[in-house]
Amino acid sequence: MVNAGSWIRSETTAAWRLLRVVKRAPTLFTVTWLLVVSSAACVSDDERGDPRSVADGARRFDLVIANGRVIDPETGLDAVRYIGIEDGTIVALSEAALDITDDGLFVDAGQLVVAPGFIDLHAHGQDVASSRYQAMDGVTTALELEVGVFPVDRWYDERGGEGLINFGASVSHQGARVRAMRSAFASVNSEGTFSLGESSDDTLYRAASDGELTRLKVLMEEGLRAGGIGFGFGLSYTPGVSHRELLQLFQVAAASDVPSFVHLRSARDFAHGGPLAPFQ
Ligand SMILES: [Zn+2]
Repeated sequence: MVNAGSWIRSETTAAWRLLRVVKRAPTLFTVTWLLVVSSAACVSDDERGDPRSVADGARRFDLVIANGRVIDPETGLDAVRYIGIEDGTIVALSEAALDITDDGLFVDAGQLVVAPGFIDLHAHGQDVASSRYQAMDGVTTALELEVGVFPVDRWYDERGGEGLINFGASVSHQGARVRAMRSAFASVNSEGTFSLGESSDDTLYRAASDGELTRLKVLMEEGLRAGGIGFGFGLSYTPGVSHRELLQLFQVAAASDVPSFVHLRSARDFAHGGPLAPFQ
């Protein structure tokens, strides 16, 4: 009899990584074996060890998720399986039934998909109601990366480290830009971004001066230190952004080894060179 638990642990490190989630900052990644009915990690069948061997009744589990269609994008597994969990960690997959301990929990996931928690990179809805719907879709991490938030520290503080699901956001270029160019308080959040049709804010339409660009870089770097997951650029909402400004901010992101997320300008926006103008 093979020790199925140990080989699953050793052979599926990458699969576990799928459940690595973001709480606050890139430096605060936590590993959470978060399981919801439609959300769990899994491993593949493999000739090196047959997890079915654990189903001989010799082992019992804290939690068994039974009869679910187990899908693991990494290994390609797509089959009905029993999942055995101990101390919050998946330690067995089996075609045959698995038993629970006397006070264990048995979940029948028949007709349901069991998969690693999904990570939504484009989640503007960052409120309790949105999180609830996302959880029901199997999303366990919702990130506001495209538009971002500003100020970043306030956004996280308002959530108090709590949430139905894991959350995070990029540093909003739009928000930081208004702050840098007006030296006034500015913020963006999931409820509303700057709207060109309604705004009389000239900072959206003009290029940043050298001094403003210097301030902007400082603000965006501060946003990273406050927990921002890269930079979020809503270029469609800031037609005044020049190639020079964008290039320099991309360079700041590269120097900090963080990604940039971009909402392109509208293809109809010929007055400002169309969607690719800022990059040319
Ligand atoms: Zn969007």
